[in-house]
Amino acid sequence: MRWLLAVAGLLLLLRPRVMYAEGVELGTVTPAGRAIEAAGSRAFAAAGYPAIVTSARDGRHMTGSAHYAGNARDFRSTHVGTTAEKYAIVAAMLAELGPEFDVFLETEPEHIHAELDPTRATPGRW
Ligand SMILES: [Zn+2]
Repeated sequence: MRWLLAVAGLLLLLRPRVMYAEGVELGTVTPAGRAIEAAGSRAFAAAGYPAIVTSARDGRHMTGSAHYAGNARDFRSTHVGTTAEKYAIVAAMLAELGPEFDVFLETEPEHIHAELDPTRATPGRW
């Protein structure tokens, strides 16, 4: 019986869960968007912070940004205590998402940007 509780607890822990800041427009959720949210939820949880999406398809991004296609997410990072923890979250997300994705810690304004970028033909456009 105890093992069942442990498995249930583990599943709960692994279940992708993010929060959305006010005004976030998800639109149709793409597989890449879902993968980014799942990786973000686990990376933030492992660091001990809530994962808060601040932008999906909404917001103002550069022309051609993966945001408009639903293949990017911005996460709040200002509530994460240290710079080392922020980069640990970025590294964990990169490790889970793999080489087809880019994950950056942006500075102005500060946030973590993650996008599907299978071509790498152009530098990240966020
Ligand atoms: Zn972004």
